[in-house]
Amino acid sequence: PGRSAERAIAAAEAHGAHNYHPLPVVVASAEGAWMTDVAGRRYLDLLAGYSALNFGHRNRRLIEAAKAQLDRVTLTSRAFHHDRFGAFCSELAELCGMEMVLPMNTGAEAMETAVKTARKWGYRIKGVPDGRARIIAAANNFHGRTTTLISFSTDSEARADHGPFTPGFSIVPYGDLAAMAATLDAAPEETVAVLLEPIQGEAGVVVPPPGYLTGVRELTRERNVLFIADEIQSGLGRTGTTFACEHEGVVPDVYVLGKALGGGVVPVSAVVSSREVLGVHRPGEHGSTFGGNPLACAVALEVIAMVRTGEFQRHSATLGERLHRELGLLRGKGVQEVRGRGLWAGVDIDPSRGTGRQISERLMDRGVLVKDTHGATIRIAPPLVISEEDLAWGLDQLRTVLAE
Ligand code: PLP
Repeated sequence: PGRSAERAIAAAEAHGAHNYHPLPVVVASAEGAWMTDVAGRRYLDLLAGYSALNFGHRNRRLIEAAKAQLDRVTLTSRAFHHDRFGAFCSELAELCGMEMVLPMNTGAEAMETAVKTARKWGYRIKGVPDGRARIIAAANNFHGRTTTLISFSTDSEARADHGPFTPGFSIVPYGDLAAMAATLDAAPEETVAVLLEPIQGEAGVVVPPPGYLTGVRELTRERNVLFIADEIQSGLGRTGTTFACEHEGVVPDVYVLGKALGGGVVPVSAVVSSREVLGVHRPGEHGSTFGGNPLACAVALEVIAMVRTGEFQRHSATLGERLHRELGLLRGKGVQEVRGRGLWAGVDIDPSRGTGRQISERLMDRGVLVKDTHGATIRIAPPLVISEEDLAWGLDQLRTVLAE
């Protein structure tokens, strides 16, 4: 079995493009908050597929919904109606308190769709002069990997050798309301949208200062600019509420969802908004072969039903308190800073204890899987079904690794 892990890694190294740097663990199966490698060794998953696995690995309800749909119809393309599409759109719109849904597959596709939608709304509804639409985004954002999305990334690694880039974006520091106001007022007639993660995930789980999202909401409303919330990683229970925007009582004009919307079973993403905004699309102007397919809709419908119960949000809020209390106690003991909300934390490791990667590898050796980001940070984001005992055990391993 050990050899088979080596073979799997060697084949990946030889024939897979090196756009990731995975930990040297080869997973063969998983259930709930646990994964098992090819040698039968178990690991507690504290990453949850970057929040795609909020409901745990192979959640029973989601697998049953998928299996039932596999026995009926999996793909029609949007050339025809299918019997799960209308229900999916109406139920997701209702969950979001919105009117219309445009389904895609990956987060990046949904973000591209949000950018296209905002520009189209700008030209057709707001009356922006042709070719002048401007979108404001935040420094250190992560919205996906397409050419347009990295055009307003501030991560030089993400951008290197991928230009020329898409114009029409302004960058402001995240959390700085005065800078946002100034940038909005520099071109109020041309600005169609402000695009933000309500908590920045890949940046290291960065929570904006209190009042920031409320302030952005007011500034954008006053200037007839759309507020687009990228809740692909923060939404659907992760922070202890259905949407991270709720922590400030903010309702954006557009939600962008992905990851957990497909329950870790199939890729499902969506742009969710009002009729005024999503109504700008006409047949033939935008599309996706797989977006809104029957299998995706069947799984997502079950996800929506599960989110509606509120149990995952409650569990995230309750266990999140314990997570942040215990991580807070590690400040000065191998941890420099901790940020986050609910079952979601960015932990800056004291460089004297090792890099984020080294800590992640040492945790892996103790049966806990996390992933580093930006050198010194590890991210903790377990499936929201994790038990309190398992979380406590995982934190014990972190304490031990930091004390070594
Ligand atoms: N937006 C946010 C906030 C994300 O965290 C991610 C992925 O990490 C994306 C967009 C891109 O999603 P995908 O990898 O499915 O394209």
